[in-house]
Amino acid sequence: MNLHEYQGKEILNSFGVRIQRGIVASNHKDAVDAAKQLTTETGTSWYVVKAQVHAGGRGKGGGVKLAKSLAEVETISNDIIGMMLVTPQTSAEGKKVNQVLICEDVYYPGDSEPEEYYMSVLLNRNTGKNMIMYSTEGGMDIETVAEETPHLIFTEEIDPTMGLLPFQARKIAFNLGLSGVALKEMTKFVSALYTAYIKSDSSMFEINPVLKTSDSKILAVDAKVTLDENALYRHKDYAEMRDLREENPIEVEAKAAGLNYVDLDGNVGCMVNGAGLAMGTMDLIKQAGGEPANFLDVGGTADAARVETAFGIILKDPNVKAILVNIFGGIVRCDRVAQGVVDAYKSMGDKINVPIICRLQGTNAVEAKKLIDNSGMEIISATEFQEAADKVAEVLAL
Ligand code: GDP
Ligand code: MN
Repeated sequence: MNLHEYQGKEILNSFGVRIQRGIVASNHKDAVDAAKQLTTETGTSWYVVKAQVHAGGRGKGGGVKLAKSLAEVETISNDIIGMMLVTPQTSAEGKKVNQVLICEDVYYPGDSEPEEYYMSVLLNRNTGKNMIMYSTEGGMDIETVAEETPHLIFTEEIDPTMGLLPFQARKIAFNLGLSGVALKEMTKFVSALYTAYIKSDSSMFEINPVLKTSDSKILAVDAKVTLDENALYRHKDYAEMRDLREENPIEVEAKAAGLNYVDLDGNVGCMVNGAGLAMGTMDLIKQAGGEPANFLDVGGTADAARVETAFGIILKDPNVKAILVNIFGGIVRCDRVAQGVVDAYKSMGDKINVPIICRLQGTNAVEAKKLIDNSGMEIISATEFQEAADKVAEVLAL
């Protein structure tokens, strides 16, 4: 689950990671109040207005702006709130901005060269260990750094049984070219950051930039935090941070119905039971020349109600031109699934406006095929995997 910058920073702060202070606001009046409060708390007289959307590269898209007075906070917030922010990480239409984070300006005027670093914490799936990735080249697109100057990106792997050891935190600070007070501050920053990552059950932290101020403070100016959804039951307060406005509405609905659904760009809707078979089905659709419109695992109980919900969700995607049902009946018998498909089809009537190809294999597959063929519904049955894919290609006239 992805979080907004202000929520990520809240979590970091709760574990003692120093952050650029900020207050979130959803209209320009609140933004001005937020700025006044920041001045009381931090003494800042300049502010940064930052669009809160689940996408990076906001600065490039005009979603991060410096305000040198309360009047500027008001006009800039007014401009940013409600805008469709387009960044290198959003679609062409962009993301609607509902809130801004009003931050203290931490790039002191007269600071000749504020140092910006890159730091992320994530799981290295190849070694099964968490690692800290870091670079002196912060503030910019890390993908470009990785491509053009990969030697400037360092990684430090952490042994899961021992955790981050003090020498590792010092090594990171040292590799970033720090000494004296800044080295000590960075060592503390890295330790607190790793503790926050572990204790919050996160799956990714990306802090770009980490800033060194001219008086050697180290702080997180940005925070991209992804929480491990499977651990949310341990963090009720984090679960409440979910912002459904940022998520794909069809995926939100599918999740509420207990379906495992991921929206994709193609035109063949898939309804499959089991993640492995779903992946195999998507591969086969591609081999036959089609493109899957979604990944959908309906799970073990493919009864009529579930099949109907799944059809409804698949059909919300206007790109869908055919639906392939591919279900293996192990414990759940194929004839019961077939009955479910037929019942769902009947009850949905003309809401189903695309051809359906249905392949049921496993227990009672023969009975299932008969049931479909004799249903009088326009459902094309198939027995073999390849046959099903070919029939999809046929109806799409590929
Ligand atoms: P992103 O573009 O979505 O990654 O958003 P960031 O939070 O990283 O902000 C983008 C850029 O805004 C940073 O790289 C900084 O250069 C700049 N910025 C952020 N905070 C401040 C600030 O307090 N003062 C000034 N002058 N610039 C800032
Ligand atoms: Mn950033």
